[in-house]
Amino acid sequence: MIGDPLEMAAEALHSAAKVLLACHVNPDGDTMGSALALGLALHSAGKEVTLVCADEVPLPYRFMPGSDSFLRAVPEEAFDVAVALDCDGERRLGSLAPAVRRAPCVIEIDHHTGTDRFGDIVAVDSTAAATAVLVYELIRLLAQPITADIATNLFVGIMTDTGSFRFANTRARSLRIAAELVDCGADPYQIADHVYETRSRGATLLLGQALNSLRLYQEGQIATARLTAEDFESAGASDADTEGIVNHVRAIAGVQIALLLREINGKVRVSLRSREPVDVAEIAREFGGGGHRVAAGCTIPLPIAQAEERLLDAARRGLQRAHSSPRP
Ligand code: 5GP
Ligand code: MN
Repeated sequence: MIGDPLEMAAEALHSAAKVLLACHVNPDGDTMGSALALGLALHSAGKEVTLVCADEVPLPYRFMPGSDSFLRAVPEEAFDVAVALDCDGERRLGSLAPAVRRAPCVIEIDHHTGTDRFGDIVAVDSTAAATAVLVYELIRLLAQPITADIATNLFVGIMTDTGSFRFANTRARSLRIAAELVDCGADPYQIADHVYETRSRGATLLLGQALNSLRLYQEGQIATARLTAEDFESAGASDADTEGIVNHVRAIAGVQIALLLREINGKVRVSLRSREPVDVAEIAREFGGGGHRVAAGCTIPLPIAQAEERLLDAARRGLQRAHSSPRP
């Protein structure tokens, strides 16, 4: 529990009139659910709320209550408080960063382990399964009711960041909050149907291409898959349609590190996944990225074959570290 910074955040929000809520680039269910839930709670507390995300809301998240109110850039207005949700470092805000920083009070609410902090109030708890868990606690501190719409948004955050309550971060705290959200009106079946069973045709074609490109290294401990610019073009899909594909790569028996490489705008976006005790955030940080021990990402400005070579080298070292040193 962080306690103090979250209470400071509640106080700052309590005395604010105009609040800016910002998500990270390539938005996921946690950053969206956290911002939407906090936005609804602040709105019912009488605040003027503006929601921003530099990228478009991905299709599976468009059912989330309030998701049509996201702006792609920060309007030229003065805000009393800006809140960055689920952002592991300022760079995760993408083009929004300068405008977010301009607010007189910047609050970070996050659960990543990174140390690149930029807020005046840093409410970061890496033991929380999702940023949505912290937002749930914040809304309680603000003494706002958890409506069915707020519950739905928070449930999406916790469900997606725990891989549907399967990952190592699935603990009693997250399950208890999830149960409470169901009591408040979140419908797990409907939510899962939207998030996991509403893939676009292009996303499914990309899944096929990625699985076709599978390669295994180090006696099957490292697995890679790649999607080229041509794959995206022939599938008529975008990077937002690749969410979840890397989990299929990681699901192969014996795989400890899964890498999904995508050719985007002449650079290579990488999703890294691992099984404990392998730490892929450490590998992602070698390339200027970051994330969690078992789920991380980075962008490498190299041709895809070279990016893969570098990544494999770092992954081999990561495997070695995991199996030669005691767990932290
Ligand atoms: P994904 O592979 O789903 O894009 O990202 C997995 C995790 O790594 C998420 O928690 C995400 O926030 C983090 N992550 C992804 N890309 C980056 C990046 O470029 N920089 C940092 N710091 N974190 C990233
Ligand atoms: Mn998260």
